[in-house]
Amino acid sequence: MQRDTYVVKRTFLQWLHKRSNPRLIVNLCFLVVLVFSTLLTWREVVVLEGAYVSSQRNHLETVATALDRQLQFSVDKLLFFRHSMRDALHVPLAFGVLQDAVQRFEGLRNIPSWQLAVDKDRTLPINGVSDAFVEKTTLLNRDDDLLNNELSAALEVGYLLRLGSSSTRKEERVVYVSRAGFYLSTDTVSRTEDIVPRYYQLVTQPWFVQQSERANRSRAVRWFISPPSSWTGGAQVITASVPIYYDHYWYGVVAMDFSLSTMKRLLTDATSDHAEGEYQLYDTRLNLIASSETTADRINRFDERELAQIAYDIESDTEGGVRLGSRFVSWERLDHFDGVVLRVHTLHDGVRGDFGSISIVLALLWALFTAMLLISWLVIRRMVSNMYALQHTLQWQAWHDPLTRLNNRGALFERAKKLAKSCAQQSLPFSVIQIDLDHFKSINDRFGHQAGDRVLSHSAGLIASALRTNDVAGRVGGEEFCVVLPGIALEEAGEIAERIRSRINSKEILVKKSTTVRVSASLGVSCAQEKGNYDFEQLQSIADARLYRAKQRGRNQVVWDDQDKK
Ligand code: GH3
Ligand code: MG
Ligand code: MG
Repeated sequence: MQRDTYVVKRTFLQWLHKRSNPRLIVNLCFLVVLVFSTLLTWREVVVLEGAYVSSQRNHLETVATALDRQLQFSVDKLLFFRHSMRDALHVPLAFGVLQDAVQRFEGLRNIPSWQLAVDKDRTLPINGVSDAFVEKTTLLNRDDDLLNNELSAALEVGYLLRLGSSSTRKEERVVYVSRAGFYLSTDTVSRTEDIVPRYYQLVTQPWFVQQSERANRSRAVRWFISPPSSWTGGAQVITASVPIYYDHYWYGVVAMDFSLSTMKRLLTDATSDHAEGEYQLYDTRLNLIASSETTADRINRFDERELAQIAYDIESDTEGGVRLGSRFVSWERLDHFDGVVLRVHTLHDGVRGDFGSISIVLALLWALFTAMLLISWLVIRRMVSNMYALQHTLQWQAWHDPLTRLNNRGALFERAKKLAKSCAQQSLPFSVIQIDLDHFKSINDRFGHQAGDRVLSHSAGLIASALRTNDVAGRVGGEEFCVVLPGIALEEAGEIAERIRSRINSKEILVKKSTTVRVSASLGVSCAQEKGNYDFEQLQSIADARLYRAKQRGRNQVVWDDQDKK
């Protein structure tokens, strides 16, 4: 395991070393800066989003609380009517007028529709139907033992209903609908022929039916949307209803109607300080009741899939938020209404708001920073490239002879010494060839210095082409060259030298327009294995001495031993 880590580490370091060119490092550095700046911006965006969501929450909470407070007043009133009705049932007033009215009822109960008024300016009249009507359905019941008490209580509470609803314009109407075949309403019908259909309409509404013993066990206030009818002026209304129970008997229902425009007014009043975004009021079945938008085409509509998603979320919590495409919807259930307030914030609202402008500034800053980063990256990369090329050129110039493109004297010596040392360590042969062009001075003299240069570079090319990749050739003097042959023994080195000599001498060199010259060279060869001495300088001087002897022997030849030819 440890060994594996070591190998991985070493491989990585080797890779880094091999790749450690400045361009790569510059790219890497800029990439890191870019990644970090992007990450930081991203983090800011996330923090901002959190703050945005909680600010949405706050706005919504304030609006929901304000709306709740408004509705609470009506709900409290409804509960007050229930309480009064129960009280009146418990201790009936022993007023003569009330008792008279109850007496009068006995004469009316079999007429299809009738009205029983005590004092129309003080209390609401009772509108009733016949015994026969009541007997038609089990939902209704005219219990003679309880009826007198209920009629007197209804007349008594009618006074409160009239009083309570006239002091405010919030409710359209307040009704008490009895199971015993009569009702009281703050918008009293004037024509008796309307009583039967009106009573029928009232007792078939969900807000009445759903208050039965089984349907509303908690006896709490419930809200319903009632369809348009002629009784409500052809408009949809929202009805809050509460059942009246006394002594375990269900007498009837007190209900209040609110028009949609009243609900809209309540919502608009509650949202007046929170203009940004749209607020919507829904019932629990997600029917839109009111919106804070003034024109219908500006109301945010949801398709079925989105409504299903909101409905699913509303099921599980009393408040929350959900992103639907480019819209952010936060919602909160109301305490005094069977429904939910939604705040819809579109991308357009978001951009206009504080968070939108901060996000835009943030995005612009990031874009600006990234643009500047890219520009500086391009400039620095270019500078590094130029420096890199310059460094290469300088390095090449420091190690090479510009005329012949071979190693210069210093470079040759350094490389040759290293090669000699490594050959000595491995006990490999190591040979040196010293080369000097013959009568070079006379070429200069006859054809000029430039022609001499051309001969020099041509000869250098020939020398280099005769070598293997491991061999090293260099220019060590004016027209003197040296070749280092690691791993090559004396005899083979002699052959290589001979090949070089014959190549140099084999071709005419064009030195001037239509003037060619054939040059020759004298070569001396030495090898480390002759005396077991790997010292390059000594090997070179031996080769040089042999070169000198080649000159003496008549030039254009190779000498690789110390025996004089007879
Ligand atoms: P030998 O056969 O004895 O070697 O005769 P040589 O004329 O080649 O010998 P010598 O050493 O007298 O002359 C070398 C000449 O090479 C002297 C110098 O003018 C010439 N030389 C040295 N460096 C350069 C160079 O870079 N370019 C040119 N064109 N000539 C050079
Ligand atoms: Mg010479
Ligand atoms: Mg010379």
